[in-house]
Amino acid sequence: MSPSGAEVLREIKSRIDEVDPAAVREQIANGAVIVDVREPEEFAAGHIPGAKHVPKSYLETRIEGAVPDRTAHVILYCASGNRSAWAARTLLDDLGYENVESMTGGITLWKDRGYDVEVPRSLTAEQRERYSRHLLLPEVGVEGQQRLLDAKVLLLGAGGLGSPTALYLAAAGVGTLGIVDDDEVDLSNLQRQVIHSTDRIGVSKVDSAEQTITALNPDVKVEKYPVRLGAENIMDILPGYDIVVDGLDNFPTRYLLNDASVRLRIPVVSAAILGFEGQLSVFKPYDGPCYRCLFPVPPPAELAPSCGANGVLGVLPGTMGLLQATEVIKLILDEGEPLIGRLLMYDALAARVTEVRVRRDPDCPICSRDPDAITDDELGVFPDYEAFCAGAH
Ligand SMILES: [Zn+2]
Repeated sequence: MSPSGAEVLREIKSRIDEVDPAAVREQIANGAVIVDVREPEEFAAGHIPGAKHVPKSYLETRIEGAVPDRTAHVILYCASGNRSAWAARTLLDDLGYENVESMTGGITLWKDRGYDVEVPRSLTAEQRERYSRHLLLPEVGVEGQQRLLDAKVLLLGAGGLGSPTALYLAAAGVGTLGIVDDDEVDLSNLQRQVIHSTDRIGVSKVDSAEQTITALNPDVKVEKYPVRLGAENIMDILPGYDIVVDGLDNFPTRYLLNDASVRLRIPVVSAAILGFEGQLSVFKPYDGPCYRCLFPVPPPAELAPSCGANGVLGVLPGTMGLLQATEVIKLILDEGEPLIGRLLMYDALAARVTEVRVRRDPDCPICSRDPDAITDDELGVFPDYEAFCAGAH
């Protein structure tokens, strides 16, 4: 006769280590990784603060994402201590984890003792469906999706780079997108500015972008700034945003943006395109170099894109804009290795990506100083641009 479920469970429990909730509290302070193995609805109803969530039925496929180090001290829990005992045996016997325990009595006993429970804000049923492919990723999950929904990202320009970035950030559920653009949709934009359409020629780009974004994802709030970013408005627009996406096409405004973002400590995901080539970097104030560390002086005027209309392969801003969107999402989720202190260069014709390390300049006129020491008069100090462009001819 095969053994009953209760007998199997007794046998499993005799072979794994069980630990009382009081001891678990101490172990959390000592750096143990707590993993909740219950179903998503149970986790959403309340869990141990800081616990990772790996439902028991997904243990084999997801535990490595949640706990990459197989030597880590892992404590599993469920509702009553049975499912976590099964899961502990799986981790030890089948998945190569070395130091695994199961919490006695589960979260029921934990709550009975009056210990802290964290109740995450929940997503609506529609949001669960919309973001279901994010929720399946341990690096995003419900918590990460909430962070995306709470995030405020400012896009400078709804043009070649801003269009794909805005579309994908909106689709991903970034909750607030600010868009600064004083331009109107022109027929010559549509070869690459995919957020706009033929029937919107003549419409302001911020209005056109808002229409597309709202149709794509009603979760996203659009803040429109139909102005040209300048010294007179930058300190009114930037504060309150978590990240700035820079698709600017001129150097004076890039320097201005750099100086203001360093002062406000707002990271900037910056991309530039010309012809068949693109560049990308993340400038996170005081964590890595700033734009002035990388370009202490502007490039020669004949290479400055805003001195005249330049050709660009239509798909190139798509490629670079989506790399920007990817960096934005990584910063919001605090996952992966952001492109801080690295300049990525993409050559579309050669299909080649190269990367250059960039260091902080200890003598940088802006980021070598305390943010409060940077005055209004110093923001965006740059040679006269018309004279600068005239030098190109
Ligand atoms: Zn600097």
